[in-house]
Amino acid sequence: MTEDSLAARIARHIRATGPLSVAAYMTMALHDREAGYYARHSPIGAAGDFVTAPEVSQIFGELIGLWCADLWDRMGRPARITLAELGPGRGTLAGDLLRAAAALPPFRCALDLVLVEASPVLRRVQQQRLAAARPRWVEHFEELPPGPLLLVANEFFDALPIRQFVRGRAHWAERRVGLDPAGNLVFIAGPEDPAIDLLVPAALRTAGCGAVAEICPPALALTAALGRRLTEAPGAALIVDYGYFPSALGPTLRALRQHRPVPVLAAPGTADLSAHVDFAALAEAARAAGAASFGPVPQGRFLQALGAELRLAALAAGATPTQRRDLASGLERLLDPREMGTLFKALALVSPGLPAPPGFAEEGSPR
Ligand code: SAH
Repeated sequence: MTEDSLAARIARHIRATGPLSVAAYMTMALHDREAGYYARHSPIGAAGDFVTAPEVSQIFGELIGLWCADLWDRMGRPARITLAELGPGRGTLAGDLLRAAAALPPFRCALDLVLVEASPVLRRVQQQRLAAARPRWVEHFEELPPGPLLLVANEFFDALPIRQFVRGRAHWAERRVGLDPAGNLVFIAGPEDPAIDLLVPAALRTAGCGAVAEICPPALALTAALGRRLTEAPGAALIVDYGYFPSALGPTLRALRQHRPVPVLAAPGTADLSAHVDFAALAEAARAAGAASFGPVPQGRFLQALGAELRLAALAAGATPTQRRDLASGLERLLDPREMGTLFKALALVSPGLPAPPGFAEEGSPR
């Protein structure tokens, strides 16, 4: 550990002010302006630390583009609509989405692209990739312009800071990041506290001693704000991520470096940190604010319902044999339950009164 490493700075901070919540640790490790993971790395792709669905197959973004077009149509074809993406990564999803949207010129012309991105490194990549669409960048969801909204977020919510709680003998306690006698970062349990019981999702509260539960306050705040917005102007949001439904016990926080798991507290700033998304909690926060929610449905089923195989056949018709193989294996990876087909899920949040969006028709009436 060099003296000015992020780990050393976090250790100094802990010595000065006491152990950190897991959320505070995640925030420093991911977003520290100098040494945070997203401040320095271009994490996505074969050369990075993890691969995401839009990087695996262009069909992913194209189908989401058609999904958005359908929602725009159901909203009564507003002349201008904000197309917002949370955490656009390398801009691949937005690029594929906009290419598919171009098949419907009145829809494409109505779109104002706004990207919510924290990483200066990835903003530069998006700038190059999406220059023709003249995007605007904002740092927070709250800065999006008012009015009709289409919002997409793929593998965004898993990157938001979580708090972890451990069930003790009588009550829950918050898990914290502290120091061992040698000065290394370690997890420690804070004091048991009846007030913390109330922070644990009700469905998990009665778990036995030693159980770990997670909540993601910024995700709940964001979906609540999104839910409110959807009651003020017509809109729809598609959230795709890996996670569970219904709420389940953890711990799920993990660190990835070069596609391999590494210890969460080793070398903060040099590995991606993410945690399972609690889809039940997101849907509930949006519904409590007045929006309708559909799903989540497994990603494989969602993409199939949107016509993934038809799109593959159309692309394959004009492709070389090698391209055809790559197209088929890419899509297979997104659909296969043993790969991304089931762990990844799609959740739709829409303005009250809008019908079930494509891919969610079998999910019943709004809940
Ligand atoms: N959606 C992309 C990238 C997923 S990685 C894809 O599917 O390939 C997570 C993305 O969210 C990155 O672009 C990262 O920089 C961004 N991000 C993470 N935390 C953020 C925050 N708090 N605010 C804004 N963007 C954030």
